[in-house]
Order: sequence, then structure tokens, then C-alpha cells
Amino acid sequence: MSTETDTRTEDLVKLFEEKVKGPIETYLDVCVHCGLCADACHAYVGTGDVDQIPSARAQELEKVYKRYFTRLGRVAPWLVGAEDLDEEVLDRLQKMAYQCTLCRRCALYCPFGIDNALMVAAIRALLADGGMVPAALWEHTDTAYVTGNTLGISDEVFLDRIEWFEEELRDEVDDDEATIPLDREGARILFVPTPIQIMRFPSVIISTAKIFYAVGEDWTMSTRRFDGTNFGLFSGEEEKRDEMAQRLVDEVERLGARVLVVSECGHSYWVMKVAAESWLGKPLSFEVKNIVEVIAEYISEGRLNLDPSVNKDVVTYHDPCNLSRKGGLIEEPRVCLEAATESFVEMTPSGEHAWCCGGGGGVITIPEYDEVRLASGQPKADQIRESGAEVVATACDNCKLQLIELAEHNGLDVSVVGVVDLVAQALILDEDKK
Ligand code: SF4
Ligand code: SF4
Repeated sequence: MSTETDTRTEDLVKLFEEKVKGPIETYLDVCVHCGLCADACHAYVGTGDVDQIPSARAQELEKVYKRYFTRLGRVAPWLVGAEDLDEEVLDRLQKMAYQCTLCRRCALYCPFGIDNALMVAAIRALLADGGMVPAALWEHTDTAYVTGNTLGISDEVFLDRIEWFEEELRDEVDDDEATIPLDREGARILFVPTPIQIMRFPSVIISTAKIFYAVGEDWTMSTRRFDGTNFGLFSGEEEKRDEMAQRLVDEVERLGARVLVVSECGHSYWVMKVAAESWLGKPLSFEVKNIVEVIAEYISEGRLNLDPSVNKDVVTYHDPCNLSRKGGLIEEPRVCLEAATESFVEMTPSGEHAWCCGGGGGVITIPEYDEVRLASGQPKADQIRESGAEVVATACDNCKLQLIELAEHNGLDVSVVGVVDLVAQALILDEDKK
């Protein structure tokens, strides 16, 4: 082995000790190899590939653990199935880590609550420090880190798009004074969309503005931070991840907003609502809500006049894992859909137990995993077909992109829309708002 290779291996083993040793030791203490997690994982069920079994990911780590952190593994690795942390093992770990969507469905079905997603996050952190993030995912993350948004949208393009959205809003509400406010200090709500909404799903932003208009909300968007996503979570680059979360916190504080409302994006919500305080080591000085949560509040308070007969098609709802299982927002989107559509049906299972769409965790950005990603979405595609729905609503861009591809790939005759769009379509504006 060359000195250069020795040094790299030593560095990687140190990283393994720092990032992965704790989670794998917990797993080794608790896992009884019952295999129950296998049938809970869409990636295994959809592909039939045993490498996708949640506990198989941990067993791969176990081989490395034994090699460097057990006496027998150090002196006689062949006796205990220990393996060197070499490029071949790293390649296998890379696939296992970045093909998992971090959906945490396996943790729900493990009798001991072992969270393989935590282990996968630890492997990603190790691989990120070792320079092994898949190229496309690394580029997305770096673009966001350098330019402030994952698509590298310039300020000029952003302002052009907002001007266009504002014209659309004015047409929709028949009011030339209607605005999409920017950088308004002291507004109650700072609303943060995603770059993909700005460029591909603009109706999400226009619909949100229409709903805010209908209730007379005190809100603003920011010209400095118009990307609520955090691809550092996906790549495993923890410094970039924390810095991106901090930038969003700084902007909420600069504008003095009391509520950060993130748009239809599952992981944006999970990052800011659930993870940011522990990553940043301090409490946030503002509330964090998802837009469907805010709309459900308006509906419950009787502040939106909705006509569900506008949305006659049979609608079902896909629960984004980051909102439902990981974020606890299960009732809120249903409050919106029950009020805004005539015929709402559930998929089975749904809510906390819903199948992942197969595109989360950054997987959808990695072209070399496309085949696996589409196969992993099979349980979701089957559920959609069985629901008999004509429309699949969801509250996450990432899920939306995957569901559109799944529908095409599986010949499903459904359209995929945002919850916010269905609510905006059903909205009847009071006379004094026109
Ligand atoms: S987190 Fe989801 S994708 Fe990853 S191993 Fe568990 S069930 Fe499978
Ligand atoms: S369900 Fe839990 S205990 Fe059973 S194999 Fe999977 S991780 Fe291990």
C-alpha cells in the first residue's frame, strides 16, 4: 500500500470514529436481525435489491467497525468478516447512503426503533468529509452555498419573475394594487419559497400570494433569501448545512418577522422546524410553519371562503416524509383538501405510515441513480393506482417532481398538483377584496 493510500485510509478511519462509530455501536447493541425493516423500505420493496435492506446498510458499516475497532478484527479480519475501509467499500457505502431517501419508515417498523436514516446521515457525513459526495448533489449544494440558491438564480431574474407573478396575482384577484411585498421590515410573516417554484412551479407562489391577499395577511418575501432548501442536509456537508440554516435565521431576524413560513417543501420545513436549533446550538427567536399549516389555520378560523365544487376530480394526498412522519403535519394538509375539493380519498397506508415517493434525500438530483429511484417509487405508484384518484396533491416540490416522473413511468393517468394550488382555485374572494 502506498504512503498516500495509507494516509487517506488513516484519515477516513479517524472520520469513521468521529461520525459513525457511535451510531453503529448503538445498532450493534440493539439489532436482533429480525428483518422487519426490510419490508418497510420502499427502496428494497421496489427494487428487490438486498443491499437496499435498511439493516444491510448497517451491516456494511459493521465490517469496517470490526476491522478497526475490535481486537480480533485488527489481527485476523478474515475470521470475523472485517473489511478494510478501501475504495471498493467506500463505493458500496456511497450507493447505500445516497440511495436511501432518509425517509425513516424503517424506524417506525423496527421493534427497537433503530433509525437507519441516522446511520445513513452519519455515513454521508463521513463520505462528504472524504470528498465522496455524488457529483451532481455536490454541485447543487455548492451552488446554493456560493450563490444563495440551488439553481443559481440571479437577483435580476428573481425580480423579473416576481414582477410577472405579481401581474398574475393582480389578474387573479382583479386588483391593480395587489402586491407581492419584498423586504418589508416588521411584517409578521417572512415567506420563503424554493428555486424550483420560482422557475418551474410558479403557481405555488402565486397561489400563496392570492391566499395571503384573501385574508389580508401581513407578510413579505426577501430579495436576499429566496431559497428555503438546504442541500447540505442531503450531501452530508455539515458546515455548509449549518451556514445555510444560519443565513435564513439571520434574514428572519434582519426583517424582524415573527413567523418564518416555508413553502411546499418537506425538507425546508424539517430543517428549520426540527433540526436548526440543535445544529445551531441556540433557540430560534421566531416560529416556523409550513404554508399548509398556515392555510389550515385560516380555514379553521373561517377566514377563507372556499367552493370545493371547483375541484371536482377525485383527489388523493401524498404525504411528504419530512412533513408527516418526520414533521408531524398530517392533519393540516387534509383540512385544506377536505375544504377545497369535492372528492378526497386516502391512499393506504397514509399519514405517518405513508410510503416514501422514492425521490427524497437528494436522490432525485443524482442522475446515475435514476433507474433505482424509479424502481424505488413502485410502492407509491401502486398506491396511487389503487386509490382511483385523478389528481395527486402533495406539499413538496421534490415529491412533486418524483410523482410526475412516476406517473409517466407507470402510465398513471393522474395530474400532480400542490395543495396550495387546489385551495387557491377554490377560493372565492369577498366583494370588498375585489
Ligand atoms: S430511511 Fe427510508 S430509504 Fe432509508 S433505509 Fe429506512 S426505509 Fe429505506
Ligand atoms: S427491524 Fe430493527 S432489529 Fe430488526 S433487522 Fe431491522 S434494524 Fe435490526
